[in-house]
Amino acid sequence: MTAVPPNSLDDRLHVLRTRWGFYVSEGRFEQFIEFAVAVNSLAEHLNRMRLPGLVRICEGLEGVVLARLGSESSHPLTEQDISILQRQLDALLGAVATAKPHVPEPNRRHDESATGAPTDVDWIKPRSVWLFSPTEHGDMADALCKQLRYFGFQVLDMAWGDALPTEDMPLAVLFIPADLETSASDFDFIAQVRAACPASQLLYLGAQSAIEPIVALMRAGIDVAIPADEQTAMVLDRILDLVQNLEQEKHRVLVVEDSRVAGALIQRTLAQHGIDSLVIRDPGTLIEALETYRPDLVLMDMYMPRFNGVEATRVLRQMSAYSTVPIVYLSGATDVGMQVEALRLGGDQFLTKPFNPVLLAAVVKTKIQRFRETQRSTRLDGLTGLLNHTAAKARLNALLTQTENSEQPLLTVAMIDIDHFKSINDTYGHPVGDQVIRSLAWLLKGRLRSGDLIGRYGGEEFLIALPGVCPEQAKTVIDRIRSDFSALPHAHPGGTLHATFSAGMASYPLFDSAASLTESADHALLHAKRMGRNRVETAHGHHHLSLASSSRN
Ligand code: GH3
Ligand code: MG
Ligand code: MG
Ligand code: MG
Repeated sequence: MTAVPPNSLDDRLHVLRTRWGFYVSEGRFEQFIEFAVAVNSLAEHLNRMRLPGLVRICEGLEGVVLARLGSESSHPLTEQDISILQRQLDALLGAVATAKPHVPEPNRRHDESATGAPTDVDWIKPRSVWLFSPTEHGDMADALCKQLRYFGFQVLDMAWGDALPTEDMPLAVLFIPADLETSASDFDFIAQVRAACPASQLLYLGAQSAIEPIVALMRAGIDVAIPADEQTAMVLDRILDLVQNLEQEKHRVLVVEDSRVAGALIQRTLAQHGIDSLVIRDPGTLIEALETYRPDLVLMDMYMPRFNGVEATRVLRQMSAYSTVPIVYLSGATDVGMQVEALRLGGDQFLTKPFNPVLLAAVVKTKIQRFRETQRSTRLDGLTGLLNHTAAKARLNALLTQTENSEQPLLTVAMIDIDHFKSINDTYGHPVGDQVIRSLAWLLKGRLRSGDLIGRYGGEEFLIALPGVCPEQAKTVIDRIRSDFSALPHAHPGGTLHATFSAGMASYPLFDSAASLTESADHALLHAKRMGRNRVETAHGHHHLSLASSSRN
């Protein structure tokens, strides 16, 4: 459907280098634009991979590039400008190369299924975190380390100023300061860590709640400054958010464009930015395309046969399901009066043709991010930040469709339910119960891959889906989480308590619809409960049927 988009980091780096080479040798404006698109696309990719340090360097280059974009007449650039750009580009490529052996590719599974390589069971590999703390806060550091280790991280606890480990690039680096004032040597040390770990997230725990000191920390390279009065729970939450990127799903744009050439050009530009798109040439098929493709944004041509873009938009705005989807018009007309009218009738933005690819991609992405942000609160569960019931079901359907079309048509669904949860609530109170639910959510986020589905399906019930994983592998993983959860101490006012969960699993292709997968996993869960709880059971075709009928008796 799409032109081949550059998928991996390597592809993107290759495109970037090649385009720069073309521009340096020929110096044409369009080549510079193509180069700018490649820089922007790399920045987006690094951002999706949650590599803030690299994003920062890449955005630095982007700024330099945009400042020199100018127009036709400003190209070729002077030799001095070229060498400035060359230096920035080299710095970026150097930083990426340093970080690379440790750079996690979030969509690795898809890349591998494309090349036929075996699935890497990378949740077994603990994610590494470095912690720098002063001796006077040893207790806080110990508590944090212990907690992080419980949730599946490998923590290296060091003192400020220690020599940096060389072998393993961490996911995150935590700094606990000795006191509220950050000293000059502390800033130097942070900058040194920033330079050594461009791909890691740097968190500073114990910042003053004022703008100036936080800005100073950010200048030194800190990504997140957490105020001194925030609890360690917050830290854990943030780190776990790093690994479970819920906005993984590719951005989807529906392009309504009668011209084949324009459609192909738009699609190519979007693909270069990692955006998926579908082009329809007849606006008469719009409703059908919306329902099957479920876009995050519609790019609407103005002049088309049968209906124009504004008419199509008005129809769409009257349907409740599409009343908020962003609509961007693309048109050759520059008549301002008509543009205003088009916006008044339900469009969000107006871009003129021929479009600047950098601008088009930027507008599309910004609109989609805002759109998804407003949808966030309706998709995520407030207590755990996991997908809620409705969103989890929708995601399962999407994963199933992906699975059916993939070269590794395997998917395991697990239903998890905390054992005797009512008695935890009754004995220790509702807030303690809530914390047990949150801890299980953290454990799941910490242990599963970023592409896996984790949803809060009900009160103390979770829905999991692991794509590309066979039932045996899935059982090993879930069972390990089960055993780790049972060992996890949960604090309550009088001490600690332990909780357990039971799980039922069902796999595709043995069960081949979302309904049969969840139902069968549910039956297997019931079986696990009957067999004594704190265990994982798998649904097997016939066995499952007899299970189902026996449960009715
Ligand atoms: P079983 O081992 O059979 O699963 O026993 P159970 O006690 O866990 O089963 P049951 O489903 O009867 O109890 C679930 C309880 O979870 C009932 C409800 O009060 C409680 N619950 C549901 N949502 C929440 C929540 O958000 N927070 C807290 N603290 N409790 C909740
Ligand atoms: Mg047209
Ligand atoms: Mg329950
Ligand atoms: Mg229960």
